[in-house]
Amino acid sequence: MPIVSRNPSTGEIIKQFESYSDECVDKLLLKSYSAHKKLKKISFNKRAVCMMAVARILNTESEKLGKILTQEMGKTHTSAIAEIKKSALGAEHYAITAEDYMADDIIKTNALKSYRSYQPIGPILAVMPWNYPVWQVIRFAAPAIMAGNTVLLKHASNVTQCALYLEDIFKRAGFHDGVFQTLIIPSSKVERVLRNENVRAATLTGSEIAGSSVAAICGQEIKPTVLELGGSDAFIVMPSADLEKAAAVGTTARTQNNGQSCIAAKRFIVHAEVYEVFKEKLVRNFAALKIGDPMKPETDIGPLVSQSSLNEVEDQVKNALDCGAELLCGGKAIKGQGYFFQPGIIEKIPKSARIYSEEIFAPVAGLYEVNSIEEAIELANDSPFGLGSSIWTSELDEQKQAIDDIEAGATFVNAMTSSDPRLPFGGIKRSGYGRELAAEGLRAFCNIKTVSIHE
Ligand code: NAP
Repeated sequence: MPIVSRNPSTGEIIKQFESYSDECVDKLLLKSYSAHKKLKKISFNKRAVCMMAVARILNTESEKLGKILTQEMGKTHTSAIAEIKKSALGAEHYAITAEDYMADDIIKTNALKSYRSYQPIGPILAVMPWNYPVWQVIRFAAPAIMAGNTVLLKHASNVTQCALYLEDIFKRAGFHDGVFQTLIIPSSKVERVLRNENVRAATLTGSEIAGSSVAAICGQEIKPTVLELGGSDAFIVMPSADLEKAAAVGTTARTQNNGQSCIAAKRFIVHAEVYEVFKEKLVRNFAALKIGDPMKPETDIGPLVSQSSLNEVEDQVKNALDCGAELLCGGKAIKGQGYFFQPGIIEKIPKSARIYSEEIFAPVAGLYEVNSIEEAIELANDSPFGLGSSIWTSELDEQKQAIDDIEAGATFVNAMTSSDPRLPFGGIKRSGYGRELAAEGLRAFCNIKTVSIHE
């Protein structure tokens, strides 16, 4: 079966790709291993020159590459360009910091000298999602390559043009053949790649089902994994919050990327004292969003990625309403071509509704009313996920309680959760394990070798 790129604004097929044969994949895996052996001997300086070139190409070609993102997965062209520019910053960050992140770490013992030595481990399979087709790849690939590992990208099947474009950027930036390779294969061929001896580790960003499958296979093969999975982040609003700002940022936090972000604010947990006022502001903001052609600069929200995503969110909303929840605005598919959906807000969500515990990967906010910070944190933690979280309060004790007690990989105070190359990123519970970005992201795929030198 061919691998298909389809424009979610129209539903039309843009391009089809033949999957690589097993023989071709095996050759690429071998090439990846040879490229790793060569890369690890190349100085940080030389790697950094190439990584800076990756950043430069991303910046220069953001307009052109941005159009491909918009065509293949529907994000607005404005946000596609922002994603590509952020990716350039990520590449620059590792070009500048990798040598320091990998510097030997001296430990005092009774040996002459002992230290941690950070060493690359080899080819790594990166199974990546379509929602941030450039950023998700760069945030893994830049540290991996700067560390001396090589990258095998199995991108989501709907963004193959992006995947090939990225491979080409790394080549043009001066990295030798085999450092960054795209594998055009369906997910059913991932197991075969993971079991190949040349592949030393895997990282997956995507759904729980895909993550647990990759981790199970890697468990059998004794290969390390990093999993970045789904989220249902809490966005807590307490009485001392700046409500206008919280509602404005909350609107962006829920609807960015057409509502398809792992770290989107999905559950708004609001103190009773300010519930009605906050609700009114959020509804007003959602109603003002412009939905339409993602290529137009005035558009806030483009289409969902696929017909199945549209069906899924419609089912989730229907189920919530059947369980007794109330729809405050939007929350419906828009008739016509493409997979457009009116952003919605739902309140009075009972525990029996699917969206109480499931991720909503579309622009639908769940609104919950609570009477105390303790109740807010308890509700925030009553989720299988633990990716990001955000709390809005000027009370220092509430900030501390949230930081100490919310079960998540991140807590942002008076700001929405976001990723930044300087800060580690990742989740707990069913949101995954391991960390990307910062020093942790680079060291995730390093052999931390113990060195102990005696007389
Ligand atoms: P997905 O269906 O799991 O796809 C992600 C990647 O996994 C794709 O490359 C896909 O390939 C592959 N895949 C699917 N099933 C697989 C399997 N059984 N074995 C091996 N690989 C498999 O996820 P999605 O729907 O594209 O992405 C949305 C999910 O990703 C959401 O839950 C979102 O929250 C999560 N996400 C998490 C983060 C984070 O940092 N924590 C960031 C972004 C997204 P095919 O396309 O060929 O099926």
